[in-house]
Amino acid sequence: MTITVIKGGNVLDIEKGVFLEGHSVVIEGDRIVEVTDREPDFAEAVIIDARGKTVMPGFIDCHVHVLAANANLGANAAQPNILATIRALPLLDAMLRRGFTTVRDAGGADWALQQAVETGLIPGPRIFPSGKALSQTGGHGDFRARSDLLDPCSCCFRVGAIARVVDGVDAVRLAAREEILKGATQIKIMASGGVASPNDPIANTQYSEDEIRAIVGEAEAANTYVMAHAYTSRAIMRAVRCGARTIEHGNLVDEAAAQVMREHKAYAVPTLATYDVLADEKYGLPADSRAKVAAVQRAGRESLSIFHKADVPMGFGSDLLGDMQAFQSNEFRIRAEVLGNLEVLRSATLIGAEILNMKGQLGTISPGAIADVLVVDGDPLVDIEAVARGAERIHYVIQNGKIVSRLDQA
Ligand code: ZN
Ligand code: ZN
Repeated sequence: MTITVIKGGNVLDIEKGVFLEGHSVVIEGDRIVEVTDREPDFAEAVIIDARGKTVMPGFIDCHVHVLAANANLGANAAQPNILATIRALPLLDAMLRRGFTTVRDAGGADWALQQAVETGLIPGPRIFPSGKALSQTGGHGDFRARSDLLDPCSCCFRVGAIARVVDGVDAVRLAAREEILKGATQIKIMASGGVASPNDPIANTQYSEDEIRAIVGEAEAANTYVMAHAYTSRAIMRAVRCGARTIEHGNLVDEAAAQVMREHKAYAVPTLATYDVLADEKYGLPADSRAKVAAVQRAGRESLSIFHKADVPMGFGSDLLGDMQAFQSNEFRIRAEVLGNLEVLRSATLIGAEILNMKGQLGTISPGAIADVLVVDGDPLVDIEAVARGAERIHYVIQNGKIVSRLDQA
């Protein structure tokens, strides 16, 4: 088994928020076996010199769409399957170089793409796919224009479609079972209006409570959970009371809704990086969608304080589409301004691992954990720019114990 030693770096203990200075991380195969201040002595080890650098867990982004290479999600869905797939490859590679060793895909990615990464066929973050998100007719996953003939939607069978349109208790139950059969690790639902879809105002709730409960029931039967896209307090409370475990976006949350989330032990996954660039027409979001951005952009920053005060744990999300995916690491900077550096770093590691039910396996540098490790120039506890500038200061990305990206060979 290959032994890799990351030697003499400042190892960030993310639980305690302190550095173990001049420590080495010993990796055997794909696992971390030791963090030590002794000089480890292995004759045949791969040695990474980390002196003067920060050694920290690989990042987890809990809300991405790796198949959304086009910000116009209707157009994205209409692409030929092979083109949609190939366009995802550079997006995956770039995420990995920015230090994201794991992502939860919030609609689009499936078991096939997850396998392509896991078997080493393509470089990319480890994927927890949702398959197709479930959306009601006229909901946030329905990209048909008002002027379309509203025949049964065929776009949902395309690789580039992030969602499928399905209505009614029996039908959503079947759809959830199908996505689980196809390899979804959690079920994504559209529980309120959204930005990137043409015909559903943000203030709308989506799906009946019976439909949401049926989907949650199916997810729980398969020992997994539901992640719900929801913006307003009304939509958040409704989804959480029906059993959704993570609330995606949540920009328009108020104290009462945050309290309900706390009572139900729900998680929030804010996705603020997306709104700052979404308003910019050059990134190809359709006009009717751009008009919706302002409504949620400013409230987004306030939502961080509301979740924080109510003690609702927050995972790191970015939710960027098309060329905007390059701005993924901006989320660190935006959140650090409100919450401080340590809390946002925990969102992208410890909390992400909890959301994925991988606590102790991912998001931590400790014996027994999967060896997803970053070697970073600078101290992200005092200078968030060490991680907020994409790949710029990420010297090494190690995933499953293997070096998958090196800055000096970029
Ligand atoms: Zn969403
Ligand atoms: Zn999304």
